[in-house]
Amino acid sequence: MTKEGISSKESIELEDKYGAHNYHPLPVVLERGEGVYVWDAEGKKYFDFLSAYSAVNQGHCHPKITKVLIEQAQKLTLTSRAFYNTALGKYSKFMTEYFGYDKVLPMNTGAEAVETAIKLARKWAYTHKNIPENQANIIVCEQNFHGRTTTIVSFSSDPDSYKGFGPFTPGFIKIPYNDSDALKKAFAENNNVIGFMVEPIQGEAGVVVPDESYLSDCFDICKENDALFIADEVQTGIARTGRLLATCGNCTCEAFCEDKKQTRADILILGKALSGGALPISAVLADDEVMLSIKPGEHGSTYGGNPLACEVAIAALEVVRDEKLSERAFHLGEVFRREINAFIEVNDLVTLVRGKGLLNAIVINDTETSKTAWNICMKLRDNGLLAKPTHGNIIRFAPPLVITEEELMECISIIKKTISEF
Ligand SMILES: *Cc1c(COP(=O)(O)O)cnc(C)c1O
Repeated sequence: MTKEGISSKESIELEDKYGAHNYHPLPVVLERGEGVYVWDAEGKKYFDFLSAYSAVNQGHCHPKITKVLIEQAQKLTLTSRAFYNTALGKYSKFMTEYFGYDKVLPMNTGAEAVETAIKLARKWAYTHKNIPENQANIIVCEQNFHGRTTTIVSFSSDPDSYKGFGPFTPGFIKIPYNDSDALKKAFAENNNVIGFMVEPIQGEAGVVVPDESYLSDCFDICKENDALFIADEVQTGIARTGRLLATCGNCTCEAFCEDKKQTRADILILGKALSGGALPISAVLADDEVMLSIKPGEHGSTYGGNPLACEVAIAALEVVRDEKLSERAFHLGEVFRREINAFIEVNDLVTLVRGKGLLNAIVINDTETSKTAWNICMKLRDNGLLAKPTHGNIIRFAPPLVITEEELMECISIIKKTISEF
């Protein structure tokens, strides 16, 4: 029981009675967070191994981000884009230099940024490629997760996401993931294809890591077809996979560089960790030819580019750079997979660990519809570690990137112990 007197049990009952039932949370009620830790309403401490789906890469309530949040909240929070504000120009320069693009378009949620990317690609195609009006097609991958709007669920392959929400937005072609021949074929067999939108690692699908050359092959195919390569790095971006961006190939730089192995998306979509968990902040980055296809009045958002968000995002990205979170995620990811692989040698329940940096998942030796992953997550909770299944047999492990090696080792023993008892 907290000093406000709301217990975990009460909180769950209130949410269940008065809130829409559009989620199925693990039964744990959090009240406070700091770094890699969260505490429930009764004061029990946990390791957070979800990081709000990789939004909290910088750790909960990072002091630097919180400080900027408070200071800017006392100064100016929202002007709308009807007027200029002193933060947006500064933020735009910072963002474009940080990621190496000509321009940034600020939005709030990841889904809005994906919508923005789709509109931008279409507008570019109609103004630069002579595509007949309303005929533009964008290729996407099966098992994708790009958000929850009606247009985005139109090209989902998960019935939970799309069933009962039609009619759907046309103009999308679905191909298998990690299959660049399928992309080549889709370009050959369809007219008016203007771009390919892809997650560098499919997070919600269960941390599906494509082959080494997949992204660069797809990029080349897009270029051969004068089409845009659109990277949805809402979950994979901002140091999570041991690179600033997952499309950065083998480059460990903290900022954009000229490494030839990089796949530099024509349109880059960011969200989640762009605020370090403080606010919904998303962004779309592109060069002038693409970005300037959208003219004043043709797209926007009341809160997009608000001064509070701009200052918070700068602070959040400075933390990533100053604390070398990409390198940290890279190194600790190697440790995590090495340790779990050693465990798999002696345990039959876990069949596979996969991932990059600190975006990892284990596959449980059971069916996709089983409850095993959920039951393991319940036991992990009891043992002080919070994780969530992505499927009946897959558990994602994605701690804040500020975790130390000692803390990670402690978490690995919790995971091993919990699974061994199953
Ligand atoms: C979470 C996510 C989104 C949607 O972001 P929201 O902020 O929830 O709208 C889009 N794409 C990917 C890859 C994501 O992981």
